[in-house]
Amino acid sequence: MALGSDGVRVTMESGLTARDRVGVQDFVLLENFTSEAAFIENLRRRFRENLIYTYIGPVLVSVNPYRDLQIYSRQHMERYRGVSFYEVPPHLFAVADTVYRALRTERRDQAVMISGESGAGKTEATKRLLQFYAETCPAPERGGAVRDRLLQSNPVLEAFGNAKTLRNDNSSRFGKYMDVQFDFKGAPVGGHILSYLLEKSRVVHQNHGERNFHIFYQLLEGGEEETLRRLGLERNPQSYLYLVKGQCAKVSSINDKSDWKVVHKALTVIDFTEDEVEDLLSIVASVLHLGNIHFAADEESNAQVTTENQLKYLTRLLSVDGSTLREALTHRKIIAKGEELLSPLNLEQAAYARDALAKAVYSRTFSWLVEKINRSLASKVRAGSGLLRGGREVEAGPGFEQFCINYCNEKLQQLFIELTLKSEQEEYEAEGIAWEPVLYFNNKVICDLVEEKFKGIISILDEECLRPGEATDLTFLEKLEDTVKHHPHFLTHKLADQRTRKSLGRGEFRLLHYAGEVTYSVTGFLDKNNDLLFRNLKETMCSSKNPIMSQCFDRSELSDKKRPETVATQFKMSLLQLVEILQSKEPAYVRCIKPNDAKQPGRFDEVLIRHQVKYLGLMENLRVRRAGFAYRRKYEAFLQRSGRVPLAWPTWQNPVSTKNRKVGQARWCMPVIPLPAGSLCSGQLPFFSNTATKIQAAW
Ligand code: ADP
Repeated sequence: MALGSDGVRVTMESGLTARDRVGVQDFVLLENFTSEAAFIENLRRRFRENLIYTYIGPVLVSVNPYRDLQIYSRQHMERYRGVSFYEVPPHLFAVADTVYRALRTERRDQAVMISGESGAGKTEATKRLLQFYAETCPAPERGGAVRDRLLQSNPVLEAFGNAKTLRNDNSSRFGKYMDVQFDFKGAPVGGHILSYLLEKSRVVHQNHGERNFHIFYQLLEGGEEETLRRLGLERNPQSYLYLVKGQCAKVSSINDKSDWKVVHKALTVIDFTEDEVEDLLSIVASVLHLGNIHFAADEESNAQVTTENQLKYLTRLLSVDGSTLREALTHRKIIAKGEELLSPLNLEQAAYARDALAKAVYSRTFSWLVEKINRSLASKVRAGSGLLRGGREVEAGPGFEQFCINYCNEKLQQLFIELTLKSEQEEYEAEGIAWEPVLYFNNKVICDLVEEKFKGIISILDEECLRPGEATDLTFLEKLEDTVKHHPHFLTHKLADQRTRKSLGRGEFRLLHYAGEVTYSVTGFLDKNNDLLFRNLKETMCSSKNPIMSQCFDRSELSDKKRPETVATQFKMSLLQLVEILQSKEPAYVRCIKPNDAKQPGRFDEVLIRHQVKYLGLMENLRVRRAGFAYRRKYEAFLQRSGRVPLAWPTWQNPVSTKNRKVGQARWCMPVIPLPAGSLCSGQLPFFSNTATKIQAAW
């Protein structure tokens, strides 16, 4: 016996305290494992004791505590290094360490997929995983700075890609997949970030109670006097139209001033020169000035810029010619039969052009930033471990961007189903093992509804985008109604029965996502999918002398005659690419649960949690886990690890039928048991009576 650091009695054998053992720490051990109520009760009991982590076999379920539990210290990291999953209380670091060891011993790429709804703790989990690797892995022989860069890239990405929303004060407004590369000694030597679909409409509009991206407030609060003077900015966010729409510039949980310091310092760690920082801030400031550009109509109802001071700053900060910019903000250039025509814009069109420019400048700068970080993280070494922060799980809200994000979540859920429910069960069948099928909802039907060629929502949207001048958001909706009218996951006002009709507007469609219903307004779908930036605005930006802008706007896009892919199609293609990457890796899962909507510590809202347990498929996951083998290895990997096949199996290890076995498919299987490290194939496995009762080598 010994006393743990918190003064709690710790048994030497297991490293578990009495408190650690509240409820069951692996749902597989739950007596009444088919009962959702028992599942939730176990979560509740543990949550009450601040035990936020529980396993379903190798899947980690995490409930956001909304308070600092002091469980991510260096001491905690050490506790989880090199020990087996079940010897220590469930923890994110156990997943981190298991994944890392698997990478090193088996030389197979790993991916940690972190999913959950907005505010459930995905960003936090990603940060903690990175911190674990940065602090515990050996330093590489060369380029040790990569560890700092991996860590420091995060505050920069958050400053530019995160914002306060109603659900989360620090919500990532982009999808992210991060690769961390390790060398053969296990030292982190590089990284790579893929980013998806920044919610750029936030740059020009925020809903009530929400903010624009953090960086704007950070710069205004924390920037030095001299910097703000150069940029022509005032400290007060209320002075900027792009910052006042949500009416909540100040948030009690956010300290913009100190965050700014962190971000500014981080920029230097990830290789920004002083000049580059200046160029970047010039762009951030130019977006604020753009928002304050006003127009007035002349006698012919054509828009004229009335805010000369803003135009002057814009010209300087973007390093473009003033009169060209003025013209581009108030005219549209059309090329017809080889001739250039300038057509004046009315007030509404000019405001549209201005906002489109602000969104393009900001989102392209964000992409540039990600690439810049990637250059700083670049490594020549291959092999790695990927961290995927899954999307913001089904978000209510009306727009095109939410539609794309929710589609992304469907794809990730589909991958989870494929890997943990479908293929797992199919494998038992293929191996000829007696198996009672576990039923589950397969969301492939929803993925198809969105992405199918010709008949899917994206195809129909793209088709409408090909009819400029004729198609509108409403014709898109009509076409949708015609094509997918009998789909069980699709509904519109026209298709609904009388009772449901009331809850649907005429310009809306409803999708029954795996995580619940979301009603989308079609307003803006065509426009956002086309992502149009008038030609003369592009030309103006291509002439910019700001080095970042000139990289973001390339002249080649002016001469490119081919129609660029639509936003939804680009997104679909990058998702398919992502799924392919993830399928090539060994997956680990962290399923995050949000305990209440008030972001309060200690509150366990059962209805909200039950809903998440349902749509995350946790009960089905548990059933498959419970009925099957909890540990599996490919035959080859097992042989490689053990060096030899045990000569004699203990009598209770009864090799199952080899019927249907394909070469290379056999796996080493064992039930959930607290395995002493290194006992993988000793043939002396302790038997745990209330777990899966089969202990077999499945070949
Ligand atoms: P998501 O990325 O899923 O939208 P976040 O990771 O940003 O959610 O979590 C929202 C907030 O909840 C965080 O800003 C943090 O305050 C709190 N939080 C999340 N996970 C934890 C945790 N493990 N421990 C303490 N607080 C957490």
